[in-house]
Amino acid sequence: MAATRSQAVPVTVIGAGPYGLATAAHLRARGVPHRVFGEPMDSWRSRMPAGMFLKSTPSASSISDPSGACSLDRFRAAEGRRSQGDLHPVPLDEFVRYGLWFQQQCVPDLERTVVRRIEARAGQFQVTLESGEDYISRSVVLATGLGPFAHIPPELADLAREGLASHPAEHADLGRFAGQRVAVVGAGQSALESAALLHEAGAVPTVLARTQELLFGTPPSSDLPAERPLSRRLVKPASPLGPGWSLRAFSGIPGSYRHLPAPAREHFLRTVLGPSGAWWLRDRVHGRVDVLTGRSVRSAVPAGGGARLTLADRDGGTAVLEADHVLSATGYRVDLDRMELLAPGLRGGLWRSGRAPHLSAGFESSVSGLYFTGLPAAATFGPVLRFVCGTGFAAGRLSRAVAARG
Ligand SMILES: Cc1cc2nc3c(=O)[nH]c(=O)nc-3n(C[C@H](O)[C@H](O)[C@H](O)COP(=O)(O)OP(=O)(O)OC[C@H]3O[C@@H](n4cnc5c(N)ncnc54)[C@H](O)[C@@H]3O)c2cc1C
Repeated sequence: MAATRSQAVPVTVIGAGPYGLATAAHLRARGVPHRVFGEPMDSWRSRMPAGMFLKSTPSASSISDPSGACSLDRFRAAEGRRSQGDLHPVPLDEFVRYGLWFQQQCVPDLERTVVRRIEARAGQFQVTLESGEDYISRSVVLATGLGPFAHIPPELADLAREGLASHPAEHADLGRFAGQRVAVVGAGQSALESAALLHEAGAVPTVLARTQELLFGTPPSSDLPAERPLSRRLVKPASPLGPGWSLRAFSGIPGSYRHLPAPAREHFLRTVLGPSGAWWLRDRVHGRVDVLTGRSVRSAVPAGGGARLTLADRDGGTAVLEADHVLSATGYRVDLDRMELLAPGLRGGLWRSGRAPHLSAGFESSVSGLYFTGLPAAATFGPVLRFVCGTGFAAGRLSRAVAARG
């Protein structure tokens, strides 16, 4: 729903990934005039490796629209396909098609333009677009995703500057490493799936993990949770984040998470859903990919056109590993200072929870009218905000709060 251009735009949504699209769909359903910007599903198209599957199950991979008419199952039905359950991971290319379909159905007014700058202007915001246009908006919702937060640890920074180390977000096609030795640092889904894809593309990956062993999920005993015996469902109830009572709590009550003391919120965010691979990755990694567990990278230097890593184990022992490239699958760390879209004056004035924005129950920051959703909101609402399954809670609450602001 486009707003009239001559007066202040009530709401601007920046980002067209799952969180931005869901926010815009909910605003539209409430009749709140807004402009929404971004290249739809850009992160999923250009910052994730071809051949990837989603770790989240199909039932936890729908982008929220208020009517439920644009769920993943509805998309599959529109393509003439049956819905599937937990035994069938969603391929990346299908999820991208789904997101584009969602955008056409629920967010037809999307403007495929980059927003260059947000500045505070007398209690409102000046929005500057790549096209050079600027205008005033009463509220701004930042749904700009993971992009600025890709984390490469300091010990790999020199290699990264030389082009000898990179983050998985830099590669939409791991096939470019065919024939090369690649050290993959990390033990989470991204590290393990990257290692499997590298191996399958003809590269020679070695996984380097600090943990003593690699962990993988347990295969579901049936395609649909409802088909599982009652005793199993009672011990480990299904939830969008995975089976178990604690995950059910974290996915079921994100609104209560913000009432936990700050140290508890930080602890859960770090530890809930620790590094592990999906159940369907085990056979693609075990016995196929070299794995060095219980080691961390002490130092890394360029050597002979590649990288020489000195590894340390827990007993103080060291070893050397040589690789043509290092893939630092070391995740994402929210840091407001990296959100250069926000003018420094605006950014500097925001209250923080650690390095993330401090948010109200309605996703509003300490600057009235400035909202954050997706990963930067996880410090307030918990781990569910890291995943697509959090779009319903986030977009519902945020759109209600924005509509109430008027
Ligand atoms: C490798 C990998 C695998 C993952 N697998 C899963 C999974 O299986 N299940 C799951 O639920 N989650 C998964 N995630 C997490 C997933 O990325 C998030 O759940 C989801 O993408 C967050 O949506 P978002 O809209 O906040 O961010 P994004 O999807 O990153 O979208 C942000 C959008 O904002 C746009 N944008 C940024 N800046 C601007 C600007 N200045 N102007 C205009 N547009 C802008 C970007 O182009 C992008 O399109 C995975 C993440 C990674 C990295």
